[in-house]
Amino acid sequence: MTGQIYVVSGPSGAGKSTIIKRLRKKMPDLGYSISHTSRRPRGEEVDGVDYHFVDREGFEKLIEQGAFVEWAEVYGDLYGTSLATLENMMASGVDVLMDVDSQGAMNIKMHFRDASTLIYLLPPSLDTLKDRLRERGTDDDEVIESRMKKAGDELKECLNYDYLIVNDDLEKAVAEVEAVIVSGRCRKSRMLPKIKELFDIQEEG
Ligand code: ADP
Ligand code: 5GP
Repeated sequence: MTGQIYVVSGPSGAGKSTIIKRLRKKMPDLGYSISHTSRRPRGEEVDGVDYHFVDREGFEKLIEQGAFVEWAEVYGDLYGTSLATLENMMASGVDVLMDVDSQGAMNIKMHFRDASTLIYLLPPSLDTLKDRLRERGTDDDEVIESRMKKAGDELKECLNYDYLIVNDDLEKAVAEVEAVIVSGRCRKSRMLPKIKELFDIQEEG
């Protein structure tokens, strides 16, 4: 049984990390694709848990080696997804959550096609987004302003995604992402091999 990929994207402050963290607690069998990045750790981020932190030179070497299924420059830093890690998790039947930007999401879709599902997370309003970025306290006013300038345009990216989830009430948003993953596990394409084996069902024709 092959695992599926669930990409979560959305503007900075939409709640991606918060929701992914909650979901991984609720669904401990979910895998998470830990990206490589050239940016420095922020706050309480831990190397090998939140990201694999490497310097720019190290990151560029990994690009040359073809280690990434996708990589992108986001807000001036490099971020990338290791192909081997992703394939290993999927091959062992693990569903994998990813937090990547929209360029990464499109590249994942191109590579994995039906094995990938794209979820876009939106804030209830732009004002709430700004308040949450301020309250998070990890970015200075200048960074917040530059992210807010981009946010309006960024939200249009949701048009290319499979599922749109508004993060107003946190528990509800977590339950909605969970529902997408759980329904993916019931898809015929995923279940049929097991069902055929269980009930000795043969396809005709
Ligand atoms: P992202 O990973 O998308 O940049 P975060 O998960 O860091 O966003 O969330 C941004 C801030 O908003 C954090 O301080 C988080 O605690 C808060 N937050 C997330 N979801 C909600 C919610 N539904 N209601 C209120 N605050 C939220
Ligand atoms: P942050 O620095 O706030 O953790 O992430 C900044 C942005 O980089 C977010 O939009 C996040 O989704 C994106 N990102 C994180 N990892 C990857 C990755 O491996 N590939 C791509 N394309 N984007 C990523």
